[in-house]
Amino acid sequence: MTASNWKKILRQLKSKPEKAGKFVKHNKPKERKTGIAKKKCERCGRFGAHISSYGLNLCRQCFREIAEEIGFKKYN
Ligand SMILES: [Zn+2]
Repeated sequence: MTASNWKKILRQLKSKPEKAGKFVKHNKPKERKTGIAKKKCERCGRFGAHISSYGLNLCRQCFREIAEEIGFKKYN
């Protein structure tokens, strides 16, 4: 199970409501108030190398891919 898609488990347990309830009670990841796991890339869901400047909320890899589309320009 990856942190980015724990809700997939609920889709699998749709036909077993009792087990789904127990999963939510005991195994659901915590809502974080601080730390790396709170900030996530909006495009791909990565946790590392987060760029939050200018309200981007992207990882560096996604920023590199779409920087020119969203109006950033390289001066060199
Ligand atoms: Zn990304």
